[in-house]
Amino acid sequence: MELAIGHLYPDLLNLYGDRGNIQCFQKRLAWRGIEPKIVTIHAGEGIDFHKLDLVLLGGGSDREQELACKYLKQVRQSIQEYIEDGGVLLAICGGYQLLGNYYKTNQATIEGLGVLDIHTEWKPKRLTGDIVLRSRLSKNPIVGFENHGGRTYIGDYAPLGKVASGYGNTGKSGKEGIVYKNLVGTYLHGPLLPKNPEVCDYLLKQALRRKYGKRAALEPLSDGLEQRANRYIAERAR
Ligand code: GLN
Repeated sequence: MELAIGHLYPDLLNLYGDRGNIQCFQKRLAWRGIEPKIVTIHAGEGIDFHKLDLVLLGGGSDREQELACKYLKQVRQSIQEYIEDGGVLLAICGGYQLLGNYYKTNQATIEGLGVLDIHTEWKPKRLTGDIVLRSRLSKNPIVGFENHGGRTYIGDYAPLGKVASGYGNTGKSGKEGIVYKNLVGTYLHGPLLPKNPEVCDYLLKQALRRKYGKRAALEPLSDGLEQRANRYIAERAR
């Protein structure tokens, strides 16, 4: 078995070690004897979503995010088809915001891809620090680090989790991130997956099932170190 992991625009969207999410996908597949194929796609290169099983869209500054969005608009239709068809997409912070209808800053309103009916508004107080969530995707809390000026309004979509500590989508809604089909959007950097192996395995499982059918399974791994890292942040944030 093999899964192709598309790393989109690492030259633009690469904050806080977001590429660690790619390494985590790669390792946790290889440990199970499943071949990870990393497909790095730089800004301006064509993307064949039919050949990808998992896609990472990392975080970036406002400027980089705007540039990335400009390039992604050229493949907007195929991104949308990929998402609607159950393609697995992990979008972090700036990558999450740009999937929405717009991002309104104090300077301008930047049109997003509009593949999700959500929007983001910038406010001067940045929402920064450790964050802990409770989520149906993971028995353990989901932990990470957030740093964003944008507040994201997700309407009736399901969030990734409820904020136990930290700010989340708006700092007020008590919700963090979004889950739509097999798309997960979140403000959690850090990177997200190494400290939250259950979330990594959830995404891998969805991708395996989409490609190889419902019975495709992942062997459990002994996650002692990963759980310790997770606990450390969860306890520190209390
Ligand atoms: N534009 C984003 C913001 O709200 C970028 C943050 C990020 O990707 N860390 O600040």
